[in-house]
Amino acid sequence: MEKQNLRKAKTTYIVPYENGKFVFLSNLTSKVMIGDTAVKDIVENPNSYLDSNPNVVKYLYENGFIVKNEAIESEILYTNFEKAKNDISLTFVLYLTLNCNFNCVYCFQGEENKNRNITFKKNDSELIVNFIKKKFDASDDEKLTLTLTGGEPLLKFPLIQEIVTKLESQVGKNRLSTRLISNGSLLDEEKCRFFEKHNWVSTQITMDGTEYYHNKMRPYRNGEGSFQDVIKGLDNALKYCKEVILRINVWPQNISGINDLLDYLKKNGYAEKSNLILGFHQIQNFCETIRDKLEGLTCSSSQWGLMSLKFHELARFKGFKNVDLPLSFPRMLHCGANSLKVFHILPDGRIATCWGTSGEMDDFVIGTIYDEKPNKAYLKNLETLKGYNPLNQDKCKKCEVFALCGGGCLAEALSENGDMSKSVCSNVKYDPEKYLTLFVKERLRKSKFSTRQFT
Ligand code: SF4
Ligand code: SF4
Repeated sequence: MEKQNLRKAKTTYIVPYENGKFVFLSNLTSKVMIGDTAVKDIVENPNSYLDSNPNVVKYLYENGFIVKNEAIESEILYTNFEKAKNDISLTFVLYLTLNCNFNCVYCFQGEENKNRNITFKKNDSELIVNFIKKKFDASDDEKLTLTLTGGEPLLKFPLIQEIVTKLESQVGKNRLSTRLISNGSLLDEEKCRFFEKHNWVSTQITMDGTEYYHNKMRPYRNGEGSFQDVIKGLDNALKYCKEVILRINVWPQNISGINDLLDYLKKNGYAEKSNLILGFHQIQNFCETIRDKLEGLTCSSSQWGLMSLKFHELARFKGFKNVDLPLSFPRMLHCGANSLKVFHILPDGRIATCWGTSGEMDDFVIGTIYDEKPNKAYLKNLETLKGYNPLNQDKCKKCEVFALCGGGCLAEALSENGDMSKSVCSNVKYDPEKYLTLFVKERLRKSKFSTRQFT
């Protein structure tokens, strides 16, 4: 390494941690490390340590905490982002139906959705499997994930069986993982046994409060409460699935009941379940069909930024083993919508790159399972998505937490700013120091800290 030719990267973000230590985040590479004042000094004055500590200097350089004097960081970051588009796993999200046996108060696929009753046609399973197989064969990936969602996907369980069985026989048993996103009410043992045979890695079930709150927010279509059936489904999933995410949506109607829900879950032994992960989520108002209905009831990213940390702390305080962090781990790409490695297949046969489409966001549609070649409008969307890079905006180029946000959600930008390339900052931006230290604490707690620690 040449002498006197190094400096701290402008994109390295340093925040104080515990016991006089610091957390270092390289936004150039998404690497995180912990170190003391001696390490901080090396990061800030690398040239002075070239002789006395060359290995540490080399590590810092290779992981983007320091760069050469002449390095243009915005260009490195831009290139790393482009490379990352191909680094995510090949995923297919299959919307079995937009129909549902629930009528949740905030649902964008609810009664108002004119597409609710559109279903796949008789021979579509063949076309779906062919589409997935072709994409898989054309990629370098050795495995693929099929996420089954809706509406309520289990309303179409025979179609799920047909597609999963066909697909697995074509791509090979160990190459397919299945994930399920369901309201949980129809998840009986027979269905669980089917999924278990097909590498069921994860399922997500939603519960928005204790029986009173949940039944108010997530009733059946006939108005009856669904809570008891969801609990049965949750128990079945916990028995058969490797990882069960219990999603709790937060908004004014249930906010005061979340504490009670956590107490209920704890009293009934769920805090100890090693395969249960709690996750708190804000309700988003992306879709035209429900925009007026939700007006004033959803919170902004900045409000959610503070609230999500509080719910995380509350669940931890009550002793839940696994609580999802209100942020993703540091990485270049946070959204699959422009990677062209995540494909959402809708019941009308359209293929999109983001779930926002089921709420009528046409900008993410890139084709259909019926046509080999996309039409002009889809080609235009494809080009726009391919070309998207948040680092075209000055605010993201200079952002101290780019690795924790990646430019945010394109659907949110489209909905709020009418343009997917005008990013809306994620909640992380509103208290980056707290988010970053929380991330490190959680990683250390789970011994999942794979990056080097200079302790
Ligand atoms: S655009 Fe937003 S909603 Fe769509 S895939 Fe990306 S992060 Fe998710
Ligand atoms: S959208 Fe905001 S928080 Fe996200 S990377 Fe850009 S500037 Fe940072």
